[in-house]
Amino acid sequence: MKQWNIAVIPGDGIGKEVVPEALRVLDTAASIQGNVTFNYTEFPWGSDYYVEHGMMMPEDGMDQLKQFDAIFLGAVGDPNLVPDHISLWGLLLKIRRDFQQSINIRPAKYFEGLKTPLADPNNFDLIVVRENSEGEYSEVGGRIHKGEDQIAIQNAIFTRKGTENVMRYAFELSKTRTGHLTSATKSNGIFHTMPFWDEVFSDIKQEYGTVETKKWHIDALAALLVTRPSDFDVIVASNLFGDILTDIGGAIMGSIGIAPSANINVSGEFPSMFEPVHGSAPDIVGQNIANPVGQIWTAKLMLEHFGEIELGEQVLAAIEEATKNGYKTPDIGGAHSTTEVTDEICKQLVNQK
Ligand code: ATP
Ligand code: MG
Repeated sequence: MKQWNIAVIPGDGIGKEVVPEALRVLDTAASIQGNVTFNYTEFPWGSDYYVEHGMMMPEDGMDQLKQFDAIFLGAVGDPNLVPDHISLWGLLLKIRRDFQQSINIRPAKYFEGLKTPLADPNNFDLIVVRENSEGEYSEVGGRIHKGEDQIAIQNAIFTRKGTENVMRYAFELSKTRTGHLTSATKSNGIFHTMPFWDEVFSDIKQEYGTVETKKWHIDALAALLVTRPSDFDVIVASNLFGDILTDIGGAIMGSIGIAPSANINVSGEFPSMFEPVHGSAPDIVGQNIANPVGQIWTAKLMLEHFGEIELGEQVLAAIEEATKNGYKTPDIGGAHSTTEVTDEICKQLVNQK
């Protein structure tokens, strides 16, 4: 029997509503599979904790988390209780940074029965692999002169190591999928970093003869993601470009409530963290209408990370089946509750057995 130890942080708002639902699906998955168990240790950290203790997590919080196989997070932030920059840096961004989760993964996929803004969603199924710790979002730069002569300078940092890391991850992922990898670049306009990005991409490509590759400039790629998303499988992108592409990915799916994400620690020295793309959604708290799909699909990414590939596929198939059968929360045009949608997903999971 394999055992996975998971640190669970429901966090704030609807995080507290959708996390237990996703754990229910994980337990159903474990019961149909038979030789895996999930042990959950729950940490009540977040904005309520802040109100009581003046911090988002205890001093030794990171030490407590270190021993786990993964961190499963709901949502962090309650602007009525704690200013956003404190809640983000005190928990979410702290974990991402201190545990060196340098890669962010975000799948986007068309489900039958979902209303999307696309005229022809045409079964797209793609994953954006985003560099998450360096690149354009750097603190290097500054301002000189004053008044009319003022100049702002912003430096982007692309290390060989960081760039190779994200690319290798994307190539490996491509091998497990259709074997098509797209690189988001802008080497026709950005003078130093993007030609470097292209260079590292071709170098790493030598190690992966079977993967077919393509390069697109980010402007064209952003447009294609809207007009022809089904042309893409895995896309590798820098921090800024990945930020933009993942938002488009979320938008073309139809609701932020279904989008999952993973923050990966590549070395395996620290746990990776799995969280849906959506926030704490204070406007719909307490009504049992939050879409649980983002959190449940996030659990699927965690299963894959554990190497439970088939079980992960079964969870996704159950989500798709439930959606197709019309089990949908109001954000995607349905009238079902959080609980009812999860019940149906669990039922579909058991049916697949
Ligand atoms: P953050 O600041 O944490 O990034 P936000 O306030 O920008 O979050 P969300 O909390 O994700 O954004 O909410 C944005 C909108 O999407 C809200 O109207 C919210 O109700 C809706 N929403 C987000 N997640 C869900 C969900 N799981 N189910 C239904 N609606 C959702
Ligand atoms: Mg917010």
